[in-house]
Amino acid sequence: MRVFKFGGASVIDAASVRNLADIIRNYDEPLVIVVSAMGKITNALEELLNHYFKQDKKTTDSFNKITDFHDSILYELFPDNSKVFLKIQEIYNTLSQKLKEEPTMTYNFEYDQIVCLGELLSTLIIESYLNFTGVKCQWIDIRKLLKTDDTYREAKVDFLMSEQLINDALIKKGIYVTQGFIGSTKNNLSTTLGREGSDYTAALLAYFLDAESLTVWKDVPGVLNADPKWFDNTEKIDEMSYTDAIELAFYGVGVIHPRTIQPLKRKNIPLWVKSFLKPEESGTLIGNVEYKKLIPCFIFKMDQVLIDIYPPDLSFITEDNFQSIFEVFSRNNLKVNLMQNTAVRFRLCVNNDTQLIPKVVTELSDKYQVTTADSLELVTIRYYDHKTIERVVVNKEMILEQRSNETIQLLVKDLG
Ligand code: ASP
Ligand code: MG
Repeated sequence: MRVFKFGGASVIDAASVRNLADIIRNYDEPLVIVVSAMGKITNALEELLNHYFKQDKKTTDSFNKITDFHDSILYELFPDNSKVFLKIQEIYNTLSQKLKEEPTMTYNFEYDQIVCLGELLSTLIIESYLNFTGVKCQWIDIRKLLKTDDTYREAKVDFLMSEQLINDALIKKGIYVTQGFIGSTKNNLSTTLGREGSDYTAALLAYFLDAESLTVWKDVPGVLNADPKWFDNTEKIDEMSYTDAIELAFYGVGVIHPRTIQPLKRKNIPLWVKSFLKPEESGTLIGNVEYKKLIPCFIFKMDQVLIDIYPPDLSFITEDNFQSIFEVFSRNNLKVNLMQNTAVRFRLCVNNDTQLIPKVVTELSDKYQVTTADSLELVTIRYYDHKTIERVVVNKEMILEQRSNETIQLLVKDLG
């Protein structure tokens, strides 16, 4: 059994649905295809939800934007009498029915009930198109199989129950089309696993089903050693260990979702990252591969803020201080990208969150002297060497540096 995952960027219009079908035709069964909502539909559903919560006039526009988008794809792919129109209409009806009533539950609960529809729409279209063009497959409502707790918007998967249900339902034959990102509670209320959660779903399905591999189809040739947005002459990495994949995902390589790797590593399931635009090319293999080091990999985080924290009267930073400082960060859910301490100062680098930072600073100021510096850039290089460091610090002022054997992190200010 193989598992494939197609993200929103791989299904943006009729042509890309045809492309997906062409890729599937080249592979043998059994196969599970996990799909995200099409294009930017999850964002569109979030927008709709916000209007719905404010009960403002734009709710209808937002709703129409979503139905128009899917309708135009349907009309291009299917004849008018196709049964798919009825299936899609059913989802539209569920949504419009919901919008007629005022929201009575929490925002996070309503979020999951509405936003999950994006994945239902995309998978119904893809399953129908595959069957229509002769690729026999079965649509699965993953909410019946992937069971979670009721932490809406960030639901935690119940491994035992899900494993059982998934293995009972997905016999190792044929082709299944199902949704990423969504699940349901034991009372069958829809949940979501957190934005960009489809890779995680695909990894879990691969794990539960003991799949021979997972392939994530992307708009890039594989895992590159830097984001082409910041770097010319990026190189594709052909093979990578699970550890490097987890490290790179942790530092912010966007192609790999941090939560994807762990379940795969536990069962030694290889992960392929391949291009849906050039499916014949080899992509990147993440798995049990061995090497001394990779080519240098660069991760850039722009718009960083450095928070410096000083105990009063030049007293030392002690364990008690760490505890109280982390408590503030953790309670406010402000994620730390880098930290360093000296005798009398603790420094933390975070993304520029204009809501959270002032809150955290205010809270810390009760006990400490706090200063901040913004407009900084954080450069992480895994498998650095002298030349690569020189390359990234041209025209930059060095604010803070931290290195281990493999990885260096440089917090810099652009002087350009
Ligand atoms: N559709 C969801 C999102 O956009 C899940 C995913 O794409 O992975 O976040
Ligand atoms: Mg997506």
